[in-house]
Amino acid sequence: NEEMIRRSEKLSVVGQLAAGVAHEIRNPLTSLKGFLQLMKADTENNEARYKDKEYIEIMLAELNRINFIVSEFMVLSKPQELHVQNKNVVLLLKEVLAILDTQAILKNIRLLTEIQGNLPTISCEPNQIKQVFINILKNAMEAMNAGGEITIAVTQCEERYICIDVTDQGPGIPEDRLKKIGEPFYTTKEKGTGLGLMVSNKIIQNHKGTISYESEIGKGTTVKIKLPIMQ
Ligand code: ADP
Ligand code: MG
Repeated sequence: NEEMIRRSEKLSVVGQLAAGVAHEIRNPLTSLKGFLQLMKADTENNEARYKDKEYIEIMLAELNRINFIVSEFMVLSKPQELHVQNKNVVLLLKEVLAILDTQAILKNIRLLTEIQGNLPTISCEPNQIKQVFINILKNAMEAMNAGGEITIAVTQCEERYICIDVTDQGPGIPEDRLKKIGEPFYTTKEKGTGLGLMVSNKIIQNHKGTISYESEIGKGTTVKIKLPIMQ
């Protein structure tokens, strides 16, 4: 029991740290952006400095992208104030894909979606569902060092559920390890936390859904999420 308390403490500290780090990154970014805007104003109407102007514009665009990513993570790491909303999960999925896009390209991974039309909404905490998508897609990408495809299929299933299946082409998970997945701090990665799937399981449980893992060695892994459609 003491062990459990220690772990839950560690968990809340991790969340606070993430929010804190995101916040600390925002301030210097704002100052960088301010000075770049001043420099850009300096180059206006100065034909000799047209190249500088071009570079500054690229830097500003890249800063905006960093800002966007950091603010997404700040939203995600905010403490649990539950705001339940009716949402189409596909919209949430697309927001997450926009965040992970660059990382996927760098790893030579294609993120493919197969989405059924006219899906009903679900009642959910949007940031938590986004967190689940991020955790699962990051695991899939981390499992695929040789690149390849990750398929995300979203369908209405069993009449009253939305099913989200994420399939990767990674090495797969041996059966004895499959049982341990989702245990707090279970990780096989040098820099892993072993928290991602524990948090994801908890979130899906809170939404009265289910999450399961199927895997075949040498072929890949499928994470299956089922979320109830609102009545
Ligand atoms: P972390 O990613 O920090 O290790 P997670 O809770 O996200 O923690 O995952 C726990 C473990 O489950 C991983 O270390 C890995 O061994 C295994 N795992 C999860 N997803 C996959 C996957 N798609 N392919 C192979 N192994 C996976
Ligand atoms: Mg993970």
